[in-house]
Order: sequence, then C-alpha cells, then structure tokens
Amino acid sequence: MRRIDFLILTLVVALISVSGAQDRPTFTVGTATAVRGRTATGVIEVPRGVDTSTSIPVAVVHGSRPGPVLALVSGAHGTEYTSIIALEKLIGMLNPSEIAGTVIILPLVNIQSFERKVPHVNPVDGVSMNRMYPGKPNGTQTERVSYLITKQVVDQCDHLIDLHGGDLDESLRPYSYWTKTGNEPQDRLSREMVLAFGLDHIIISADRPKDPNASRYLENTATTRGKPSITVEAGYAGTVEPDDLQALVNGCLNVMRYLKMLPGTVTPVSHPVWIEKIASVASEQTGMFYPLVRRGTYVEQGMKMGYVTDYVGKTIYEATSPAAGIVLYICAVPSMKKGDTIANVGVIANPESVK
Ligand SMILES: [Zn+2]
Repeated sequence: MRRIDFLILTLVVALISVSGAQDRPTFTVGTATAVRGRTATGVIEVPRGVDTSTSIPVAVVHGSRPGPVLALVSGAHGTEYTSIIALEKLIGMLNPSEIAGTVIILPLVNIQSFERKVPHVNPVDGVSMNRMYPGKPNGTQTERVSYLITKQVVDQCDHLIDLHGGDLDESLRPYSYWTKTGNEPQDRLSREMVLAFGLDHIIISADRPKDPNASRYLENTATTRGKPSITVEAGYAGTVEPDDLQALVNGCLNVMRYLKMLPGTVTPVSHPVWIEKIASVASEQTGMFYPLVRRGTYVEQGMKMGYVTDYVGKTIYEATSPAAGIVLYICAVPSMKKGDTIANVGVIANPESVK
C-alpha cells in the first residue's frame, strides 16, 4: 500500500472509531428490533442444517441519542458462568434513555453447553465456539452460529467486548487481552478500552490471524474488520463470586463511559501488569492432578506447579513452570488427561514493548 493510501485509510478508521455515531431510528438484531430510547429482546434464529437448530438470546439497547454501537458477548463457553451472569444483569441495568449509541448484548451463545454443563465445547458438534469464526452458513451448528454472529453482530457494531472466564475446570485470575494489530489509531483505541475496562493484568496478543476470512476468535473477527475490540476474563471453576461479577459489570460500564455512551468519567487502570506471552504446561500423563500453586501467584521457571498420580497413588508426572511469570490459570479439578492443560503462565512484558 502506498503511504498516502495508508494515511487515508488510518484516518478513515480513526474517524469511524472515534465518532462511531450510527443514527438509525430502529436497530435490529435477529428478532429484536428496538426503537430509539428502548430495549428489545429476541433471538438470533439459527436454522437446522447438518445438525440441529438453535436460537441465541439477544438484547438490543437502542439509546435515546445516536452514538457508537458496542457489542457485548459472553457464553461462547457456556459454563464460564460469571461472564454470562454479568451480561444478563447488565441488560436490566442499562437505561436506554441515558445512553448515546446502541448496545447489543448476547449473554449466552453456547446454550447447549450451559444446559448440559459441558465445558469448553458446543456438545452438538464438539468444537469450541470461539475458534470457528467467521463461520459458514452451511457448516455445523457452531459454524452457522459464528456466521450469523459475524453478520448480525460484528458487522453492525463499532466495538466489541468478548467476555470469558475460567471454565468449570479452570482456576483463573482475572485478566484481559489487548490485540496489537500494527494499525496505530485502532491499537490506541483498543488499548484505552482495555485500560478503561480496569482489569490489572493485560495480555498483549500480537500473533492473532490477520486474515478476516480466517479470524478464528470472535474479538479477532471484529478487530480484523477495523473495529477496536477487547477480550476479558473473570470468574473461575463454576463459581459466581461478587468481586469477579462486579469487575465485569463495571468494566463494561467503564468502556461505555470511555466511548461517551454513558455520562461520567473513567479512571483507567494506571500500572497494569502487561503480559507478553503465555507459557502453557500440558500433562504428559493421564491420572489425578494435585496443584501446588494457586491462580495469580508468581512462579519461577522450573518451579513445581503440581503433579499427577495414577489411580492408586503413585506419582507419574511432575509439572514444572516453563517460564517465570504469573499463574493465569491452573487446573481446578483432579481429572487429568494426557495432553490437557495443567496451567497457563503469563510472562511479564518488557515495559518498552507496551508503549
Ligand atoms: Zn471462554
């Protein structure tokens, strides 16, 4: 690309992102059509294909004044309960008469996972609902859902926050992801969003796919389409703790304040722990897992993090940390299969790489 074209493009992206004002008398997602100043709820119908149909619940909060469109999505992993409850609560908390812009809320994408208490995947087709974006209209259920979310939510929004947390078997400390694309104006905006959200540990992801047609993750689907977006995680192992819940609810409200969708000022997190890389430890054996460290603790490279025994008490594997850093999450249950993740350690970034 010629430099002048690049400058024009970045200017256009910046203008769209900063003003972001979409002035529509009504706003529709799925069966939910909200007029200005109202909230509407409905579903995104996903018709039957190679497997069963499903319908994804949606709320559209169409503020009384025009402004940016913010999409909030949770429950791609239907047993990451804190994030799901946070968005369900937020629907009732948002008063459209106070809002400039529009909020699209999808509190529970993976309904089958939630109802059947199956972690990590959609039990209908056995795949993660945050790995198949931008999806396919004629694929399996997860691909069809991903396709419709891309068309109806991502394409219609200016910004997106994808909410996750520790799954049923993950003891996780809260953190967020900031995606560095190399597009300065977009990266600056998403960086300010992540600081406004307020979680004090932030992973810098610089290795996400750049191709919008192979975006894999939801946030990356929005990011590769030029929409400054973030991913956040709080809650763990089937619990819904008030502090985790509050962190997610307040984080969304603070990003809305930062985007001038709500009145009020935001105090961004001032000295977060930036994480440049995730070092993952997987089990080399199947058996019973015993952790030796907790989520959020600092570990040195080589430190023992836990061990696996066979079913009659003999230690068959010792897990050590592959790097020095923060335990972002560690397996929360004794069930351990060869190849499963034992822990993710966040390697702390050189402050220079964060500027
Ligand atoms: Zn998740």
